[in-house]
Amino acid sequence: MLVREEAQAQLLAASRTDFLTGLANRQGFFEQGARMLAERAAERPAALLAFDLDHFKSINDRHGHAAGDAVLALFARVARDAAGPEALVVRLGGEEFAALLPGRGAPAARQVGEEIARRFAEAAAHRDGPGIRATVSVGLAEAGPERGDLPALLSAADRALYRAKAAGRNRVEVAAAA
Ligand code: GH3
Ligand code: MG
Ligand code: MG
Repeated sequence: MLVREEAQAQLLAASRTDFLTGLANRQGFFEQGARMLAERAAERPAALLAFDLDHFKSINDRHGHAAGDAVLALFARVARDAAGPEALVVRLGGEEFAALLPGRGAPAARQVGEEIARRFAEAAAHRDGPGIRATVSVGLAEAGPERGDLPALLSAADRALYRAKAAGRNRVEVAAAA
């Protein structure tokens, strides 16, 4: 009985985890993230960073798919380290990631996004094996007072991310306040 429950819990956890990076996946993001936003929601700001690695297809083309995988794992490590212990860092899919930052408003979250972008480019250039020129574009949205709506927060961060791409990539753009 106990063994079966434990096995089921392990399966459930695995279904919410991204195999390559060890981060939570998209499913895990919406579950854990909604919980985080609901906890102590009223008295604290919160912000979401959406990341999309720049020209990732050409990194694969130039260096091979295995090197591309290594860059994804590297980004995950850098983002996890730089976002702080309270943050929920996830791989949404492909070369797209997000970080939910409880307790941080837009200015503090912007600093985190810029720090992740800086450290990632640095780490990719100086990784073991041939250095790779890699950058990331970032969209930032601060949660409004109502909270609750994580899909809407992600959409706002995604729109800002689209502007970061259009403005030349390797930068953070902030969504207009909701
Ligand atoms: P942009 O700067 O506009 O974001 O350009 P991009 O090349 O990053 O965007 P695009 O969406 O065209 O390409 C994403 C690439 O990411 C294509 C796909 O092969 C690659 N990719 C997705 N998942 C993985 C993965 O798990 N491993 C590797 N190596 N590549 C992946
Ligand atoms: Mg993409
Ligand atoms: Mg991309």
